[in-house]
Amino acid sequence: MSGDNRARARNIKMILMDVDGTLTDGTLMLLPDGEELKSYHVRDGMGIMMAHLAGFKTGLITGKTSRALNFRAERLRVQEVHQGVLDKNQILGEILDRHGLTEGEVAYIGDDLGDLPVLKRVGLAAAVADAHPRVKEHCHFLCRQAGGKGAVREFLEFIFDAQDKWAEIQEKLGGMTSIKI
Ligand SMILES: [Mg+2]
Repeated sequence: MSGDNRARARNIKMILMDVDGTLTDGTLMLLPDGEELKSYHVRDGMGIMMAHLAGFKTGLITGKTSRALNFRAERLRVQEVHQGVLDKNQILGEILDRHGLTEGEVAYIGDDLGDLPVLKRVGLAAAVADAHPRVKEHCHFLCRQAGGKGAVREFLEFIFDAQDKWAEIQEKLGGMTSIKI
């Protein structure tokens, strides 16, 4: 990994994530009543929890809407949850204003063309291994793991490494009595 990316990662204070194809493998299982089932990887959930322990803020921005995602985001205490979003760029602007952050202080991970406007703006842009090729072209960090298979965890760990966060994370994990992911 290039030193340039590590330098970018050292500035990051908030990590924003796409959901379908990034935190999931993109599969939607449709039930007869129209509800959709998706699966999430436990290591990504653990990574998001560790990001909070290390003092990072997190957010989810997705074009789709899912009640189960609200439940998961609440349990993980994700600060910014935006569903049914058509214009991710606009949401990014709102999030930056609300948290007093610059683009350089935000990381984003995605998989598809709808993520491009945000990926082009943030300080550290990442793509899952099976992202669209045109998305990968614009990213600083390319995950080895595919969407829904631990790619988010891999990206988060890159940021933890760059900011030397492991001792803090392990100490705080050791003091926890229950883990909700
Ligand atoms: Mg996606």
